[in-house]
Amino acid sequence: MKTIRLRDGKERSLLRRHPWVFQGSVAKGAADLGETVRVESASGDFLCWGAYSPNSSIKVRAWSFEEAERIDADFFGRRLQAAIAMRARLGIDSNGVRLVHGEADGLPGLVVDRYGDILVAQFLAAGTERWKGVIADALLAATGLPRLFERSDVGVRQLEGLPSHKGWLRGEGGSEVELSESSWRLKLDVAEGHKTGYYLDQRDNRRDFARWVKQLGAQRVLNCYSYTGGFSVAALAGGATDVTSVDSSGPALARASEHVLLNGFNPARHRALDADVNATLRLLLKEGRQFDAIVLDPPKFAPSAAHADRASRAYKDINLLGLKLLAPGGLLCTYSCSGGISAELFHKILAGAAMDAGVDAYIVDRVGAAPDHPQTLCFPEGEYLKGLLVLRKG
Ligand code: SAH
Repeated sequence: MKTIRLRDGKERSLLRRHPWVFQGSVAKGAADLGETVRVESASGDFLCWGAYSPNSSIKVRAWSFEEAERIDADFFGRRLQAAIAMRARLGIDSNGVRLVHGEADGLPGLVVDRYGDILVAQFLAAGTERWKGVIADALLAATGLPRLFERSDVGVRQLEGLPSHKGWLRGEGGSEVELSESSWRLKLDVAEGHKTGYYLDQRDNRRDFARWVKQLGAQRVLNCYSYTGGFSVAALAGGATDVTSVDSSGPALARASEHVLLNGFNPARHRALDADVNATLRLLLKEGRQFDAIVLDPPKFAPSAAHADRASRAYKDINLLGLKLLAPGGLLCTYSCSGGISAELFHKILAGAAMDAGVDAYIVDRVGAAPDHPQTLCFPEGEYLKGLLVLRKG
């Protein structure tokens, strides 16, 4: 077993069970891609077992803080079972569930989503890549499901020196699934959809959106960055009569239109706009349009805090336009999935946007990712999705 020795004082975050060891903390030691290492303090005390990433600035991701624990097939079986058991307690109203959420489940670099009877996994770091076969077998054993699709076609793998990969890891066959979320039917393709196929983290926010639309009697709804129209279906379910989905992905919009029909809604109540959101918001403003409810759910503008400045301006721009398009008494549901933008900063951005738009508004809810995408107390970096629901003063 290879050992990684830390510099003096650099053991503190591991003692608080934060699972990452950065390059600058390492005094000596190295290992192969994903190899299990023993991490110890400058004085030689055990800190954790972890996976070594030679190419990343995060050199080690901790597997376990227990010296007696062995990192083997049983270890992965136990961690996966615990993660799956936690989800079973949440009462999730969907057959699309995130079963493993990386660091939060003690499995850094692993994401597993279940869509119906298909499992989809992302192996995002050297450690999970090395244990891929063991993890795949343990996943099938723990869930009783026959098929596992790999979606390791993500940019972060480059930082680990790992190639992009996509395909069946266990089982085979069609990659289309029908999801049932709240009472809605949504189709997706685990091989072609964004991320692992769908944005499961917004599940509860889509459900709540339907309730708000109904409660407020919102008729005109603008769903920006709609992807396959989850929030649009929610709006129609809430009774909206004039829903516009805007996205720059043609295939995603085709699905959105399909979802309107699949759920039995009148297609005349829905319009799909294949366009850039920023340009569309400006155009709608020029046309003097107003909406009773607007969703802004953009892609990640700031992957890390280093991008926060530029991203803040981009968030401010779209929110300023969104607020201006809101009818008096209308609701803006605005989200940021950027790890680099804190909830506090997002609030400030919205306050600045409202000030410049000349709009006064109540915050009626503050939200995050659905609880199957949990955050743990010792890993603040786990916070990424945040949302503010603001109601324009009438
Ligand atoms: N709200 C969606 C998820 C949105 S993901 C849901 O609940 O499922 C972000 C979406 O933004 C993606 O579908 C992507 O195609 C789209 N997108 C990214 N940049 C865009 C732009 N400049 N204009 C319009 N859409 C954009």
